[in-house]
Amino acid sequence: MRAKLVLGCIGLITCMLCCFNQCLAQSEQGDHDTVMQQFRESMVSSQLVARGIKDAAVLAAFRTVPRHRFIPEDGQKYAYADHPVSIGHNQTISQPYMVALMTELLDLKPGEKVLEIGTGSGYQAAILAELVGQERVFTIEIIKPLGQEARQTLQKNGYGDIHCLIGDGYLGWPDNAPFDGIVVTAAPTESPKPLVDQLAEGGHLVVPVDNEHGYQTLKVITKKDGKIMVNDSIDCRFVPFLGEHGKSMPPE
Ligand code: SAH
Repeated sequence: MRAKLVLGCIGLITCMLCCFNQCLAQSEQGDHDTVMQQFRESMVSSQLVARGIKDAAVLAAFRTVPRHRFIPEDGQKYAYADHPVSIGHNQTISQPYMVALMTELLDLKPGEKVLEIGTGSGYQAAILAELVGQERVFTIEIIKPLGQEARQTLQKNGYGDIHCLIGDGYLGWPDNAPFDGIVVTAAPTESPKPLVDQLAEGGHLVVPVDNEHGYQTLKVITKKDGKIMVNDSIDCRFVPFLGEHGKSMPPE
């Protein structure tokens, strides 16, 4: 009888300790999310709004997508900093302002179809999904492990309906063309012709193309009445475009 009582008490105490630990973990997670939300708000106002990003839907997307969850653990403290962050495999997630500018230049409306070349961490694909809806986002990554990790990260964070492909983005995704927007997040020497061909009437291709100064100019290529118009945005620096038509082959 006494032994039963002792066992019962031990069980009760163990149970209480488990609950306490669980609550502690939950509240720590809650605190962490609140802190990250504050970093995100401050990134939006000091880096995006302050530099002229105006599109309300773009700003709302940046307030919503948890950028830190797209960055490997050792770099998470830099998630909301004003610079690119390493995502492994010699690649980087672009600086928040650059992602915002490229997204704004695409000028997407809800329900339009968009293709991203260079999935990387999956972050920009998630931002695009906030604007057009997940099923309307297509993204291609040439480095297999990065593409696989990005697909998992997107799934874990509620963006599992984005269409992810591992392959050479130079060729675009002809089966799903035309696209209202195409964004290239690595730098080719010139804008890939298949991507221009896969642009819908009125659509924009945003691509950082090498310039004579040794870095890149962000170009906005628009198809209007079947004609191609090219506008220059800002100078920038991106990781090199890889693959047969790129500057080097991706690692095996
Ligand atoms: N948009 C990404 C940024 C990734 S950096 C993000 O939000 O995190 C650029 C990415 O382009 C790298 O992951 C690189 O592997 C990929 N890349 C380079 N050349 C490519 C090609 N030809 N096709 C597809 N992806 C390519």
